[in-house]
Amino acid sequence: MRGCPQGMTVLRPQSAGEAVSLFAENPAARPLAGGTDFMVLWNMGEADGQTMLDLSGVREWRSIRKTAAGLSIGALVTHAELRDDPVVRREFPLLAQAASVVGAEQIQNRGTLGGNIANASPAADTLPALAVYEATVKTVSRKGARGLPLLQTFAGVKRTSLEPGELIAAIDIPYLPKKPYRQLFRKVGTRAALAISKTVAAGLVWLERDRTVRELRFALGSMAPTVRRLRAAEDMVRGKRLSRELAAEACELLPRDVSPIDDLRSTAAYRLHVSQNLLSDFLLG
Ligand SMILES: Cc1cc2nc3c(=O)[nH]c(=O)nc-3n(C[C@H](O)[C@H](O)[C@H](O)COP(=O)(O)OP(=O)(O)OC[C@H]3O[C@@H](n4cnc5c(N)ncnc54)[C@H](O)[C@@H]3O)c2cc1C
Repeated sequence: MRGCPQGMTVLRPQSAGEAVSLFAENPAARPLAGGTDFMVLWNMGEADGQTMLDLSGVREWRSIRKTAAGLSIGALVTHAELRDDPVVRREFPLLAQAASVVGAEQIQNRGTLGGNIANASPAADTLPALAVYEATVKTVSRKGARGLPLLQTFAGVKRTSLEPGELIAAIDIPYLPKKPYRQLFRKVGTRAALAISKTVAAGLVWLERDRTVRELRFALGSMAPTVRRLRAAEDMVRGKRLSRELAAEACELLPRDVSPIDDLRSTAAYRLHVSQNLLSDFLLG
């Protein structure tokens, strides 16, 4: 472990407005939320000489609010808070489940939802759940506020489409129009706990009485540079009756939307095979 970074400056805004102003005045500053991703860079010496914009004093970004349309989750809400919140657990259980497998208890207590998004790791565990819930990332900057559909927030591995001076303020999730017939969150890692995902899946499916698919939403992480919805499979199954043949056909379409790689955690072939099994098991129940 390294000691304190050399020559670090820390700005400590106490409100959202102050955070936006300080970021505009110090465009090279790095936002700091729970610091769980940042501390890795700190240990590598990459924090030396940096200016940090410590967001922890921005109280208005710490709460989960019910709105007429759904939930508005402040960017600074931690994984532990998401995991334990009764409304999140009831209305958006896949997000609560995802938060409960992010690192260990210590990481869940400090790591934030905004940080998980802004870090833009392809393996970030909350992203497939947010993708199937069709979340919107609310940002603020000197130019004003805007809402980015979650999938448009990512530009590549560890790269977001946030503009300079732009901060994530909240994540808005609309209520589902109807209770899904079946839902899934599944993280596949080397161990049952404390692992980075080889593949991570979230799924929702609505069926008609005769098992015709009204709507399928299925998202995968760790399978492409950014989290992906399986659009080709989702479109193909719509309006068709579920069967083994249909599930197999949907699985064949995965490579249209994902492009897994070999790396130190897994192989492309294993990732694809397991993801296809997850989709097939999910569809067939
Ligand atoms: C040991 C360990 C295990 C981990 N395990 C997992 C895991 O299993 N699953 C998983 O998904 N992640 C895991 N992580 C990664 C990390 O804990 C999460 O991504 C966490 O949610 C990051 O949130 P944070 O608040 O700590 O972010 P920080 O470290 O504070 O920030 C992360 C990045 O986001 C930017 N940022 C933060 N907040 C904002 C904001 N509001 N607006 C704009 N930019 C912002 C920062 O500038 C920085 O670039 C692990 C990390 C460690 C160290």
